[in-house]
Amino acid sequence: MKDVIIIGGGIGGLTLALTLHRAGIDCRIYELAPEIKGLGLGINVLPHATKELAALGLEDALARVAVTTREALFYNRYGQLVYSEPCGRHAGYDTPQFSIHRGDLQTVLLEACRARLGADRIVTGWRCARAEQDGAGVTAHFTAAATGEALPPQHGSVVVSCDGIHSVLRKQFYPDEGDPIYSGVNMWRGATWWKPFLTGASFVRAGWLASGKMIIYPIRNQRDAQGRQLVSWVGEFYTPKYKLRDWNRAGELKDFIHVFEDWKFDWLDVPGMIRGAENILEYPMVDQEPLPRWSHGRITLLGDAAHPMVPRGSNGAGQAILDAIALADCLKHHADPVEALKQYEARRLEATANIVRMNRKNPPDAILREVYLRTGDKPFKDISDVISREELAALTHGYAQVAGYDKESLAAKVRA
Ligand SMILES: Cc1cc2nc3c(=O)[nH]c(=O)nc-3n(C[C@H](O)[C@H](O)[C@H](O)COP(=O)(O)OP(=O)(O)OC[C@H]3O[C@@H](n4cnc5c(N)ncnc54)[C@H](O)[C@@H]3O)c2cc1C
Repeated sequence: MKDVIIIGGGIGGLTLALTLHRAGIDCRIYELAPEIKGLGLGINVLPHATKELAALGLEDALARVAVTTREALFYNRYGQLVYSEPCGRHAGYDTPQFSIHRGDLQTVLLEACRARLGADRIVTGWRCARAEQDGAGVTAHFTAAATGEALPPQHGSVVVSCDGIHSVLRKQFYPDEGDPIYSGVNMWRGATWWKPFLTGASFVRAGWLASGKMIIYPIRNQRDAQGRQLVSWVGEFYTPKYKLRDWNRAGELKDFIHVFEDWKFDWLDVPGMIRGAENILEYPMVDQEPLPRWSHGRITLLGDAAHPMVPRGSNGAGQAILDAIALADCLKHHADPVEALKQYEARRLEATANIVRMNRKNPPDAILREVYLRTGDKPFKDISDVISREELAALTHGYAQVAGYDKESLAAKVRA
């Protein structure tokens, strides 16, 4: 019998619980938050991951809350269109791209877990402190998140650390690794109720990090009484100033609004939208060097705990979902849990390490870097004088291949 202890009830941990349940494997989630409340702001889930969520029977529930993304657009900081391409089913994929509030995605996964596994399988307010193992099994140690009191140790055959970028078990195996590595880019994020812009389902990246870049997209299907959508936005630029990543750290308008003050386009009033946000969060853009190993006997890492990446390719949540699918599959097909965790690592470690590296150098927004460099950050008359459409398409396609969501890779996966 395999009973899996999942540390962390974020996107990766909840997806893993659903896939293990589908494979007939017992599991329990231990989450440090007193309640899984659906925090965060916008994220995008691309077709390689929505395919897996659809196979878990979640596509309709997600489509009810998310925006089904129609198109990705790239602009310079003068609001001039550089490049656009369709997304998800609009681009011929079998499944959609969703632009979604992280909290809504987490809530859809949580509700499915409660319905399928039972609410008692999700334990909250438990902070994992460490895990140890012997030939017979593994023991995870916990303290009460609220009081710090020791809680009863939990025994299982496998522990999966899905506890995000500040993972305790990653630290246990790599105590000298140090804090996440700052990329030189700081981010200010928020969500604003705003009238629909462009198609009402457009995912926009504009400007470049040297003089200010924005990422803007609506994240909720439901509109308010005035027909407005909840629009998630991120303003980001190079700066040596940053604070350690905390998903809930408040940001201040005065630290970044000056960069975007004149971004008033015929399709969107960017500073107006920023000022309309109820609150602002600040995160540094960080990642970690890829690890040589995730699996240590009966303990392994998954999602951000395994491969934190800078958020420049809409792949953080997607790769956690793909890890979960691979791990459940390995546990189902290998009676020996140690062997299963080795196989999981072989399937996922190098694949995700390539994305970590690609996100640093050539994520899809490399398009904007090219245009910035070739125009000297000036407006252009005609984009085809600056860069050809083929070159632009090659940049986004190259990333899709590395991240595994180009149509050829997905078709090959189905054939396999
Ligand atoms: C509060 C929050 C807000 C976020 N907001 C955004 C966002 O707006 N946009 C974005 O792109 N990404 C956001 N992320 C990160 C995003 O969810 C991940 O990058 C991605 O989905 C991979 O998911 P994950 O499951 O690996 O990690 P996460 O989704 O980060 O989940 C990790 C989970 O582990 C829990 N945990 C941590 N330590 C312990 C411990 N010692 N014991 C037990 N449980 C523990 C955390 O509370 C969390 O629920 C956020 C993460 C969090 C936790």
